[in-house]
Formats: sequence, structure tokens, C-alpha cells
Amino acid sequence: MVSLPGFEPGSSVPKTDRINPLPHKPAVRWTVVYKFTCSALASFIHVSRHRGCMAKVILNHGAGGEIMQEFLSKHIFCHYPKVKTDIPLDSMDDSAVVDGIVFTTDGHTVKPLIFPGGDIGTLSVAGTVNDISVMGAEPLALSCSLILEAGLDLETVDHVMESVGKACCECGVPVVTGDTKVVEAGGVDEMVMVTSAIGRRTPLLDENLRIASEYRKVDSRWTTDDNIRPGDVIISSGTIGDHGIAILSFREGYGFESVIKSDVAPLNGMIAEALKAGGITAMKDPTRGGIANTLNEWTSKSKVGLEIEEKDIPLRQGVVSACEMLGLDPFSIGNEGKAIIACVPEMAEDVLKALRGHKYGKDAAIIGRAVESDIPRVVLRTEVGGRRVLEPPAGDPVPRIC
Ligand code: MG
Repeated sequence: MVSLPGFEPGSSVPKTDRINPLPHKPAVRWTVVYKFTCSALASFIHVSRHRGCMAKVILNHGAGGEIMQEFLSKHIFCHYPKVKTDIPLDSMDDSAVVDGIVFTTDGHTVKPLIFPGGDIGTLSVAGTVNDISVMGAEPLALSCSLILEAGLDLETVDHVMESVGKACCECGVPVVTGDTKVVEAGGVDEMVMVTSAIGRRTPLLDENLRIASEYRKVDSRWTTDDNIRPGDVIISSGTIGDHGIAILSFREGYGFESVIKSDVAPLNGMIAEALKAGGITAMKDPTRGGIANTLNEWTSKSKVGLEIEEKDIPLRQGVVSACEMLGLDPFSIGNEGKAIIACVPEMAEDVLKALRGHKYGKDAAIIGRAVESDIPRVVLRTEVGGRRVLEPPAGDPVPRIC
């Protein structure tokens, strides 16, 4: 009789005491397989969910509108330690004020680097100087940090840095510190320029606010966004939308750049003249998001309504034509050489005259006034006598203009 190993002679039943207790082994294997499958499935679901739902940074997070404001609050500012300063970060004004020092910083990623009316160098100096100036302060000094892509033409670097020098000479604000880094090709798109500036209070601002306080109570010691009261007159220092349209047109080849140049300019000289007239309560440079963003920031921070006469907003015909063709709202387009100014009504004509006497303010115009309002909003009175709410833009419709 043939006996199979592990079997009783003549029996097909295995001798359980002799057979390796294999019955457990398949159970262990199945457990492993089961666990592995579950784990893989869970990983797959996790990765799928992660891929599908993980929020990403989008262009509008840096476009200066409501989406950016929310992004900053939820993902950037919330991680900074809170500090008490004269004008803190969370007031989201043009500059902070720390122990009397006015301080601002600005990163520039404009594309292309050189555009009709200026380049990234002019833009960096002007934009940073303007953020100090619209606080009513005098800009004192700049820092300039460069991040360059390997392979960038040295001729381009020289062109841009020459513009930095010229702009510094024009506004009388020197670069006193900086940094230069070079990254591999593709690490950045040609060049990123980051400029910061410090500024200080001058007797000009004190005298300006003293004049304003002759007519009404003035709460802020600076020309901040929260300092507008019903009755204040709103002035634009010039035409709106030139910068954004010039860059968009040049970049995309629409052809409007032959008539529209960027308005990029340092405004400290013009603003000093306006402060000399006196009675200014608030100022802002309407960069990303244009005047729609600036005016809506003012209504929410000052808790007033703004009534703006659409026909009085200075616009170049080329900007109007470009916006009509491209379906853009000129009031949401960024500017780099304009200031929107609020002042007590008694001094409005004097401020206007002072602005028009300066080369960067010759197209200045009164565009509206602040009113009492339960709902802080901007109302545009149209040319045909209608009224429409000027909503805050979600973001600047033209990316990488500054
Ligand atoms: Mg600003």
C-alpha cells in the first residue's frame, strides 16, 4: 500500500498531528492580501481625493481684488504674530507705520520686462515710492532685490537698472541696500524685482491735516483708507487704465500701444504739491484692480458711500476703444502713475489746482463725493442719468502688469 507522506496508510485523510499546520498559513496570507488590498484602496482613494480637492494657488490670488484679500487673510496674514503698530499690517493700507517709520514692500513680475512707457525698473521704483507717498509721507530710501534667470541678456539687465537709476534721480529717493540672486533657466521668468522703501512724517502732512480739521473732525494722523467722511470730495489725478491697457496691448499684439503708453511715474513730487494746498484726508494709488478696487476699499474701511460721476472719470479714447473691443471694464484696470485723493470739500478746488500744476496731474478731475450710507458701496451715476453699483473686482483682469 502506498502511503503518501502525512497520510495514514490507506487513508486520504491527512494525519492532522503530523501535517504541518498549514491551515493557518492560507488564513495569514489572506489576511495579508486583504490588509494590503484595503490599504492600497484607501491610499488610492486618499490620493484621488487629494488630487481632486487640494486647493492650488491661482492667478487671482495675486490679482489685487476680493479673492486676493481673502487669500491673504486665510493663508498669509494668519501666520504672522500680531503686533501693535501705528498702522498695522491688517489695516491693509499702502504702507505700515512702525514707531513713526513708514515702511512698504513690493514685488514686481511684469511681463514683458520692457513695455511702452517704462520697464520693470521704473515700475519698481515708482510703485514703491507711491505707496509711501499716498500715506502723506516723504519717501527716504529704497532697497532693491533681484532674482535673475540664468540666460537673461545682460543688455536687458543694464537697460532695466539704468531705469532704476533714472527713476531714483527723478524722485530723489536712492537705493541704499539690495540683494542679487541668479537661479537656473526656468527657475523664474527672466527677472523678479522686489523693492522696499522707508519714509517719514513731514510738517507738510501735519499742516495738511490741520487745514482739513478746520472743516471737520479728522481721526487719522495719516492719509489712510479709513479717513474719508461724508461730504469729502473724490479726485482722480489723471486718466485711468493707461498702464494695464498699454501692457496688455503690447503683450498680445492688439496695437493700442501706439496710442496708449503706461502712466508709470513716481508721484511724490505731485503729492507734495497737493499736500501744500491742504485738506487731503485720504490717498491711494489705484494699482491692481483699478479704481473699482480702490473706491470699494475706501467704502468698506471708511464706512461711507461713494457717489461717482461716470462722465467725470478721465479716460483716454484709446483705453475706451481697447476696453470696448476686449470686453474689459476700464475701472478695474491697474494704474501705476495715478493717485485717487479724498479731501474736504472746502479745499477741493485748491487741491485740484495744485495737481493740475504738476506734469503728472494735468488731467486731474473731481469725480465724485462721499455720502452717508447704511450700505458702504460705490454708486456710479451714468451719463444717461442712471445709477449702478461699481462692484469690487474679483481681481485685475490683466495679469502680470506690475
Ligand atoms: Mg498702493
